[in-house]
Amino acid sequence: MLTLEGRTAVITGAARGQGAETARLFARLGARVVLGDIRDDLGETVAAEIGDAALYTPLDVTDESRWAAAVDIALDAFGGLDILVNNAGIFRSMPLRDESPEAFESTLRINLVGPFLGIRAVREPMIRAGGGSIVNISSIAGLTGIARTGGYGASKWGLRGLTKVAALELGEYGIRVNSVHPGIIDTPMVEGIAPPAGPGNHPGVALRRTGLPQDVAGLVAFLASDASAYLTGAEIAVDGGSTAGRAPAVTPTA
Ligand code: NAP
Repeated sequence: MLTLEGRTAVITGAARGQGAETARLFARLGARVVLGDIRDDLGETVAAEIGDAALYTPLDVTDESRWAAAVDIALDAFGGLDILVNNAGIFRSMPLRDESPEAFESTLRINLVGPFLGIRAVREPMIRAGGGSIVNISSIAGLTGIARTGGYGASKWGLRGLTKVAALELGEYGIRVNSVHPGIIDTPMVEGIAPPAGPGNHPGVALRRTGLPQDVAGLVAFLASDASAYLTGAEIAVDGGSTAGRAPAVTPTA
């Protein structure tokens, strides 16, 4: 059985989507959770729903001073910091010819520099605690090239690489660092882009459905827990098999 009993986590982008679902699951597994986001009203609501085990703090991941504040809240209110989930992100889709340098850079700043600042912020407290787990939410766009995702894909490939470097540098302190690569997951981020979540036509997805936030939260909880104690520097797809190869368009009947 997975447990996060006695652990404290900071989760970014936790006001909605996968981050909110991960916060809910962590609390059910016994963790205390600091939720950070830029959508303050939504974040406060999710934290209030979870109850005493959760606190919300405004955390723009590009702002180093807000990272320091989030770490202080975890230490002061919950007495420790064992888990960081670098989940906040933005998605922009356009061909390279239409992507301005400013848009490209701002995507990198949120999706890649943000997690870098997070890793820097938790490094010392986790070393003092004797270890920890950092989970970086990349994407299948960080495992393979996907057209029309220039800045987004670059940020997610970058986060996959940063994960390896951090795993190598922090392993001696008992800090594990892994990346998670979701396929299409039914959240507000992909509203109007993703196929409907129910059964239907999901070309290329072996499991023939869009993913749910719970699908990602389960993997993140595993990586945050001692069940994955010997796992670091790994990259794990949670994508219904969409990067496994080519799924047949029609299931053979004989
Ligand atoms: P979501 O529903 O849009 O939630 C992401 C949250 O992060 C939003 O509340 C967003 O606020 C917030 N955020 C944006 N910029 C931020 C910043 N600078 N600081 C702090 N928070 C910020 O997205 P999701 O689908 O749950 O995605 C979570 C992660 O999974 C992202 O890293 C995403 O790239 C990755 N992912 C998602 C999918 C998918 O299909 N959903 C697939 C692969 C990977 P705003 O809404 O105001 O931007």
